Amino acid sequence: MIEVRQLQKSFGSLDVLKQITFDVTPGEVVAVIGPSGSGKSTMLRSLVHLEEVTGGSISICGKMLVENGSYTSSTAIREITSTMGMVFQHFNLFPHLSVRDNLELAPRTLKRESVQQITAKSRELLAKVGLADKADVYPSTLSGGQKQRVAIARAMMLSPDILLFDEPTSALDPELTGEVLRVIRQLAEENMTMIIVTHEMSFARDVADRVFFMDNGEIAESGTPDEIFGNPKLERTRTFLMRE
Ligand code: ADP
Ligand code: MG
Repeated sequence: MIEVRQLQKSFGSLDVLKQITFDVTPGEVVAVIGPSGSGKSTMLRSLVHLEEVTGGSISICGKMLVENGSYTSSTAIREITSTMGMVFQHFNLFPHLSVRDNLELAPRTLKRESVQQITAKSRELLAKVGLADKADVYPSTLSGGQKQRVAIARAMMLSPDILLFDEPTSALDPELTGEVLRVIRQLAEENMTMIIVTHEMSFARDVADRVFFMDNGEIAESGTPDEIFGNPKLERTRTFLMRE
């Protein structure tokens, strides 16, 4: 579903991603852990073309987004990236739009579905994340946990094949992380393909099929949650886990 080959990204002379290679299979949940600055966000952002890589290849559902550093056409880029939804640490909701309009803006712009279908879908997704009664309020009136659940519902509006989460609970008060993690866990149970960058080690252990430990622009170690958390091979993985 996702094939990444020798992905490279540098900002000037700083090599942020160094020849990253991995696959994600349909329905798989991958948790990405690792120290701050190791390239986790850059890796996710590259998949949805929020960053342009400087080398390597990304294929999504069999379609090449970038091949050996050359990007496909901008029309194809839009088509490929619209099969993925992304959820950010700081929610990135539009403050001047109601919750419902936050969900409906992208699908209404794309016009792939009728207005009635889009409205029905936003209602259904808000109910799914437990916010059926918040359709007409503005984001500023919501708690952080509610904002993030709106962001997850919004990311689902285009019926993505893949969801990407970049530290979805890092900006939340501890008592609000549970409600967000519950929504993500439910998506995992429904076999949504997901990559989740997280500091929540117990959540990662619990929900992920596979864990990537990123360090210094590389996937230093990957394995099942039991392998990574129970018996890490590398000293630096052990050191990181001890600090978390
Ligand atoms: P992580 O998400 O693991 O904390 P990031 O992917 O955000 O790591 O960042 C990896 C490295 O890339 C860091 O050293 C960061 O400072 C650098 N970096 C990220 N974005 C930019 C940018 N737009 N310009 C320059 N350097 C950047
Ligand atoms: Mg980050």
